[in-house]
Amino acid sequence: MEICGGQTHTIMKYNIDELLPDKINLIHGPGCPVCVTPLEMIDKAIAIASREDVIFTSFGDMLRVPGSTLDLLGVKANGGDVRMVYSPLDAVKIAEENPNKKVVFFAVGFETTAPANAMAAIQAKQKGLKNFSILVSHVLVPPAIEALLDSENSKIKGFLAAGHVCTVMGFHEYIPLSKKYNIPIIVTGFEPIDILQGIYELIKQLENNRAEVFNAYGRVVSKEGNIPAQKLLSEVFEIVDRKWRGIGVIPKSGFKLKDIYSEFDAEKLFDVGEIEQQESQFCISGEILQGIKKPQECSAFGKECTPEHPLGAPMVSSEGACAAYFHYYKRIN
Ligand code: SF4
Repeated sequence: MEICGGQTHTIMKYNIDELLPDKINLIHGPGCPVCVTPLEMIDKAIAIASREDVIFTSFGDMLRVPGSTLDLLGVKANGGDVRMVYSPLDAVKIAEENPNKKVVFFAVGFETTAPANAMAAIQAKQKGLKNFSILVSHVLVPPAIEALLDSENSKIKGFLAAGHVCTVMGFHEYIPLSKKYNIPIIVTGFEPIDILQGIYELIKQLENNRAEVFNAYGRVVSKEGNIPAQKLLSEVFEIVDRKWRGIGVIPKSGFKLKDIYSEFDAEKLFDVGEIEQQESQFCISGEILQGIKKPQECSAFGKECTPEHPLGAPMVSSEGACAAYFHYYKRIN
């Protein structure tokens, strides 16, 4: 299983899965932050963004993820002030420039994006901003790996771990997981040659009955990771149980703001904590994110569900597995 949707896109774009022997079956994992953000969190974002006193900011691909009735671009079309930003620090700047508005940043992502969001909260506190907040939906990779391996449906024989997550967190967290589940985990990058090296190292271990963590992305990743970034995380966030789209609640699998930063917690400030939604019965993204099914096994794939008219997040995101299969699968078949 390749953990990250970016790796899935490389595999599909360069046809790597078709070049491998039949016995090697690559399945994509839950590593697309947009895809694993639950529907209710999108609805919370939409409820906040729809307020007249709010400027809602987000990375671009969250804007098109369907909520229960519309997406954030729909809120913008209806007159809402929804803005795409490239950094949470841009949102802090917007808050400084608009003291009469409440500026909210949608903090979605894995360990990779969390340090910048922690920095935004720290900067807002230092500047004494009272009109900035963060809607936090951060998730963590190691608990998701554990949940996948605990599932009775799991057929996973090894992981290509996400190199960018390990750049921040290092790979020491994976060593006890590899030992506990007797499974090889290869820290892997995103270029075609990185993916091939990751697969090669994984197969070597499987053929030799070994199960270890191997760092195949050594030009970027160290065992300890980025210590200053980790310090930012532990200053601002604490680990909590989080709900994942289509998977459900995974214990200790996400971040929330610590109490000392709760003044920036949009969920509390706008009182949207109680919104609950059920996922669409037609979208099988939960099974796709767990590697149980592949996108083309969804009856809506390429028919009712396309990147122009997505029914689920995996068809929207630039890291989504359904989008990757849609863009490249048809070309090769
Ligand atoms: S193809 Fe569309 S409807 Fe089917 S699982 Fe993917 S996102 Fe959901």
